[in-house]
Amino acid sequence: MNTLSSPTLYENAILVINCGSSSVKFSLIHPKTGQTILSGLAECLLANDAVIKIKFDNEQYNQALDAPFDHQSALNVLVKYLHQFNLVTSISAVGHRVVHGGEKYSEPTLITEEVESAIESLAKLAPLHNPANLIGIKACQKAFAHLKQVAIFDTAFHQSMPEKAFIYGLPYDLYKQHGVRRYGFHGTSHYFVAKQAAELLNKPLTECNLISAHLGNGCSITVIKNGRSVDTSLGMTPVEGLMMGTRSGDVDAGIIFHLVEQLGYCVNDVVRLLNKKSGLLGVSQLSNDCRTLEEAMLSGNKQAELALTIFCYRIAKYIASFSASLTELDGLIFTGGIGENSSWVREKVIEQLSLLNFNVSDEKNQKARFGKSGNIAADNARNCWVIATNEEWVIAEQTNNLLESSLQNNQQKNIKA
Ligand code: ADP
Repeated sequence: MNTLSSPTLYENAILVINCGSSSVKFSLIHPKTGQTILSGLAECLLANDAVIKIKFDNEQYNQALDAPFDHQSALNVLVKYLHQFNLVTSISAVGHRVVHGGEKYSEPTLITEEVESAIESLAKLAPLHNPANLIGIKACQKAFAHLKQVAIFDTAFHQSMPEKAFIYGLPYDLYKQHGVRRYGFHGTSHYFVAKQAAELLNKPLTECNLISAHLGNGCSITVIKNGRSVDTSLGMTPVEGLMMGTRSGDVDAGIIFHLVEQLGYCVNDVVRLLNKKSGLLGVSQLSNDCRTLEEAMLSGNKQAELALTIFCYRIAKYIASFSASLTELDGLIFTGGIGENSSWVREKVIEQLSLLNFNVSDEKNQKARFGKSGNIAADNARNCWVIATNEEWVIAEQTNNLLESSLQNNQQKNIKA
């Protein structure tokens, strides 16, 4: 096993943890440069084929996990490897991706007992995600008791939305008493690519007006006015908006009554149908994976073609409707696994947006794939960038910024005292 000859190279790195219900993604990142020192994934947790895969120094290490095959087992193995690679002393803090911060959290937040209780009570809005995030937080507190832990909320970037964008056409009491409103997700990704676009435009983010399309297994569009999110397609839960890998996106709410009253569905059946059996998978009856569907379409599978056609039409419709939030538009951003790689999807979306002066250069579109970013707009057309997202870097950077500013505040207090 490798050990690092010069561990000081990696001082002040942030350990980024993203705990899902059956997986933990992690990376050790330098917050200023974005350099990834170590990265990996533990998957199939809570099943006896649970495994952890770690990449470090151009080597890949895979190890089966021991019982109880849970998040703590995965983090224990990660800690063992961090020791073996001489990296533990390089870690200055742990940054956690937390899916739901409700209305309470719009900023990176130092995790205290009170914050943990809030994340727990917000689990009613994100029952699949927040409990898993808490498991990760508790496991890291055990493993790295000496380190500060920071929560970066996926909803935070969208807390700048105005009421007209986040209130549903439902009785207002549901919002006031029960928090029923649009929260939006993928905030960290939309923020990162918007910041990158601002750099490409060579102006401050606060002067940028953008529409960002995050297209992965989950998909969302966000409209950014003067650097702040003013509307987004995901809602109170991650089912609303675009059609996704297995999620339906927008449907007529009346369909749910029809499923229950006429077709005998129970609530759990409806939840499973809308979250796991719909979207690209449901329409194609083949796969939720865009690559598989593109290949099938090219070999004549009509159902795959229909699924992809609806997918692209919905994206174009959202982009066009979100232009109503802006008086100026600097450009459109594609990101996420599909946005960064599928030149077919990008072309289909853009060709439906010629009224907004979008037009794609075929050559540039084909080149911007597999990690290559760039502006794929044809000459004289509106900017349209492919930008690889990097949520881990944002988490590392914001965690580090919070610690630096609290350190500065403490120093100032000490000087005054
Ligand atoms: P997640 O939301 O789980 O992070 P990703 O952002 O990794 O997902 O995106 C996964 C999606 O990206 C899948 O539908 C996958 O098929 C698609 N994708 C990845 N590479 C390509 C490619 N070369 N062409 C088309 N789609 C791709």
